[in-house]
Amino acid sequence: MTHLKKVQQLVEGFVGADPDRRNAVFGYLSDQPEAGVPAALECLFGTKDTLTVEYVAQYLALVPGRREAKTRVAETLRQEPNLAPSASWLVPWLPDELVSGFIADYMEAPDERRQLADVLYEIGVYFPEKLRPFTRRIDDDYVQRALFAGGPDSMADGFLSIWRNSGELRPLIAMALMRTERAVHNLMEVRDGLDDARQWETLLELSGRLPGDGGKAGSFPAFMGFVGESGASRHVVGGATHGVVPLCPDCEFPATSLLRLSAADLPYSLNADPEFFWFACDCQEAESLTVGTGPDEVRAYDAPQGTADPESRISPGVLSLLLEEHPNQVGVSLRASPGSSQHQVGGLPRWVEPDRHPVCPECEQAMPYLATIDSGKTPYGDMEFDGILYCFWCDGCRVSSTQVQY
Ligand SMILES: [Zn+2]
Ligand SMILES: [Zn+2]
Repeated sequence: MTHLKKVQQLVEGFVGADPDRRNAVFGYLSDQPEAGVPAALECLFGTKDTLTVEYVAQYLALVPGRREAKTRVAETLRQEPNLAPSASWLVPWLPDELVSGFIADYMEAPDERRQLADVLYEIGVYFPEKLRPFTRRIDDDYVQRALFAGGPDSMADGFLSIWRNSGELRPLIAMALMRTERAVHNLMEVRDGLDDARQWETLLELSGRLPGDGGKAGSFPAFMGFVGESGASRHVVGGATHGVVPLCPDCEFPATSLLRLSAADLPYSLNADPEFFWFACDCQEAESLTVGTGPDEVRAYDAPQGTADPESRISPGVLSLLLEEHPNQVGVSLRASPGSSQHQVGGLPRWVEPDRHPVCPECEQAMPYLATIDSGKTPYGDMEFDGILYCFWCDGCRVSSTQVQY
């Protein structure tokens, strides 16, 4: 049976809800050679069924690299108005000319090209500079917010004067999300104008600087993360956990390893391998988990401790995280939507709601951001937690802190 026939059977055959069908398609493709990319291409070039195309394009977005294949797919989808929205999944890999082509298609007749709104949104996330010349012609609040990232000085000054006139916090948040020198400079100016020092520190961290020594709030370059097979990289997702670990404050289920990054495989001059922990139970009781990691011990700072369960997993099996440089090195200015498999290493956190960085319990300094692990789909099944997890790391003290938002 051809891959297309098999995938179509899976799309049509399941009576269950959407996630089941999608998992079945993803499971089938991930079992095929070369991470299922040739099988996915056979499907995408062989059908015009919108649901099949949508699921297979979503699958391709979980696979890193393969720019040439993804570009060919997006070019083909662009020719079919009802399939073109599925090209939104492939935007991070598209070459300049094709990104410009999609923008031109939309600008030609924005009202008739509403189906390209998703593609435009993703272009805003990954290539805000490409959309900036069209700012005035974009009638979409979300895409407009994507253009805060790296915006011109006049934009930063505009937000500052809106704040001066209104006293509202929102324009200052927008300004912080620009992450430019001018935005940081303007933030310094408003310091004494805010009643709440914590509020100002949150804005400063959001802009990419830590309070205190003004050091960077994150590491660069930023990478997109993709969950891959065990051993595909030395960054481990959902590794086995042994010894004594923190327990869930509600049900006392032991925490489990979420992510262990290999310092030697990252360009950040880290001295220790950062390791982050989280809970695989469904309590949603803990908001954060701060852990001291040593060569042979894990120490909880804000939770009870107990014996690890080596069988417990936060991911569908022991997997790895593959990294690919993020096209947007300024930082995405749109809020994250948890459950969309948007993992990240380096760069700055893409918050659902701007929040403080945790403070290291050893050195009492704000901890820099290092990674995000999102819930949602992997090629091998669903993650075993809800929300989105932000991972902060104090390299000097070997302390990790994981913070959740929903
Ligand atoms: Zn629990
Ligand atoms: Zn520290």
